Amino acid sequence: MLFACPACDSRHDVTGLAAGQMVRCRCGAVTALATPSPQAGKLACPQCGAAVATSEPSCGHCAAPLLLKACPRCLSRVFHGHKHCSECGTELGVAAPAAPSGDRPCPRCDRALAAHHISDVVIDECVGCGGVFLDQVAIQRVIADRQQVRAEALLGALPKAAPAAIPPRDRMYIKCPVCRVVMNRRQLALGAGVIVDVCKAHGTFFDAGELPKTLEFISNGGLERAERRQLEALREAAKREQQNARYSHMMAARSSTSAHADAHRGGQGTAFIELLRALWR
Ligand SMILES: [Zn+2]
Ligand SMILES: [Zn+2]
Ligand SMILES: [Zn+2]
Ligand SMILES: [Zn+2]
Ligand SMILES: [Zn+2]
Repeated sequence: MLFACPACDSRHDVTGLAAGQMVRCRCGAVTALATPSPQAGKLACPQCGAAVATSEPSCGHCAAPLLLKACPRCLSRVFHGHKHCSECGTELGVAAPAAPSGDRPCPRCDRALAAHHISDVVIDECVGCGGVFLDQVAIQRVIADRQQVRAEALLGALPKAAPAAIPPRDRMYIKCPVCRVVMNRRQLALGAGVIVDVCKAHGTFFDAGELPKTLEFISNGGLERAERRQLEALREAAKREQQNARYSHMMAARSSTSAHADAHRGGQGTAFIELLRALWR
């Protein structure tokens, strides 16, 4: 049975411990184990969605046969037929055996990445250079959800300082550990001061120290500030467009051919939307 620390959301295996027993988390919080809810230890039937005990050979509601297996990413228990792991969100059955985490080389230094289960995300860490690869599910949970407890659990688990042997940053362009296609270098958000390497299909690589910096940026409200700045820029652009529009009206009054100006304005608008899309994917 898994127990989530209410202070930091770290998961602990408390199988065999009685209700009421005290559990000390590595963050220092001490919590009494609650009486297990009737849902504890149960998983949703992949066929009908009913909560069923993982020890049952078939669902008591729809009689679907149940086959227990382990999530290839976080090793949590899942039923055969589940589309996503309920623990870490990994898509199951798609390319899972084709690319186990152990076979993913670090884009920076080529050492094998090691999967690390923290809170409800799985990250791929490199012991060689201290870089971290976050797949799309992890990025969604860490960057987009902005959940404070999860960020703190991650911060606590990540190495505090970059390892002694910092690899030469001689590789300007690095390859995605999953598909080996060259990743795109991108500014994370306005003001974050972090350049990450992104594979749109698979995930984002953070060099040593960049993920802690990013998490701190997010918990200090950096994303909201970046959004405000972006909004302001958007308003400025709209104002400029209005002025341009007034100007071209004036010009149109002078000459009858305003088609050129209109086409130009349209193009500018699209370019700006594209820029926003690129920054926020
Ligand atoms: Zn804790
Ligand atoms: Zn069922
Ligand atoms: Zn999982
Ligand atoms: Zn590395
Ligand atoms: Zn990729």
